[in-house]
Amino acid sequence: MINQSNNENLQPGFEKLFTDHDLSEKKIYEKLIRLENFTAETKILKKIIKSYETLLKGEKKPIFQFNEYDKLEFSKLLNDEHKLARYVVYRYKYKTYPIEKIIDEYPPCVQIEPASICNFRCVMCYQTDTSFSSKKDGYMGFMKFELFKKIIDELEGKVEAITFASRGEPTLNKKLIDFLDYCKDKFVAIKINSNLSNLNKELAEAIFRNNVQTLVISADAPDKVNYEKIRVKGNFEKLVRNMELLIDVKKKFPDSPTIIRASGVKISDNQNFNKMKEVYGKFTDSVAFVNYLPWESSYENKNNSIYKPCSDLWKRIFVWWDGIINPCDYDYKSLLSKFNYKEFTIKEAWNSEHYNDLRNKHLKNERSKIYPCKGCTNI
Ligand code: SF4
Repeated sequence: MINQSNNENLQPGFEKLFTDHDLSEKKIYEKLIRLENFTAETKILKKIIKSYETLLKGEKKPIFQFNEYDKLEFSKLLNDEHKLARYVVYRYKYKTYPIEKIIDEYPPCVQIEPASICNFRCVMCYQTDTSFSSKKDGYMGFMKFELFKKIIDELEGKVEAITFASRGEPTLNKKLIDFLDYCKDKFVAIKINSNLSNLNKELAEAIFRNNVQTLVISADAPDKVNYEKIRVKGNFEKLVRNMELLIDVKKKFPDSPTIIRASGVKISDNQNFNKMKEVYGKFTDSVAFVNYLPWESSYENKNNSIYKPCSDLWKRIFVWWDGIINPCDYDYKSLLSKFNYKEFTIKEAWNSEHYNDLRNKHLKNERSKIYPCKGCTNI
């Protein structure tokens, strides 16, 4: 089933989404009720099942529902009940904890930064801030395997979702294949965000061999002129060539559950979504536009009147290449950080007084007192 979601059924972050799956709400429910033996978190599973009963009866708005993108992920795990049970519980936490303001020992998702360096200078990105991206200021670097291993050893069995991304292009780290191999079968939702310019056959094989759940390819426009205007230093022909390479390698892994998504940041009317689907749809399982945040001017944006607490404080945490632990990547110079992985674990940072203080300020409508939250539009 080809599905184009309307905005009501999208999680925050997506502006437009196109997916290809054949899951109905009824089919999801029928699968959910068979997962009880596959998770220790039966309380959460019961809440999800109850939500689906409400949904199917059409009584009232359920407290939880998978959106179209979740359904695509769900559909790839239908033959593995253990993983599916882990996935639905993780997804529930990721989406409802920021609403219910629940804090577990660990965040539902950890974003790990293999590289802060990027070979592109996209117009909406903080890499255009030379006080950040020039080598002399100390922000640029690659995560070492020893540090990565330590982080993964802490997170295995505690966290289900790891995203390889953040401020730079993850594939520039020459150790990325080793990182992926080290993560095999440890997490249910591994995601990589990449501009794909550095893809080669070995990396493509590592992505499929290690069951990466989603590869998000930054592709903001379906034509050379507009793509290269936004993804400065990018090359449209190379992007398409590398998408072809990816599809070619994927044929060797017919059982791979990896979802490939072309994803653009919507910044202008020249980005035509239907054309995006036409051009990138043949290489991918999903095409999306995500909402723009003014990342490139994080520290100059004026105070806004947003009072809703920021969801990132309840759903994920970021670890930079050098071990700095930060609440988000909007704050790309880590002004909100008090921790480095060399001295603190993720668990310690996530449950710290500093983090709780930040959360409390957001809850008390005081994000305007925090820099740079006061100019940030993320909710
Ligand atoms: S509101 Fe604050 S914590 Fe949330 S993304 Fe923005 S700067 Fe980061």
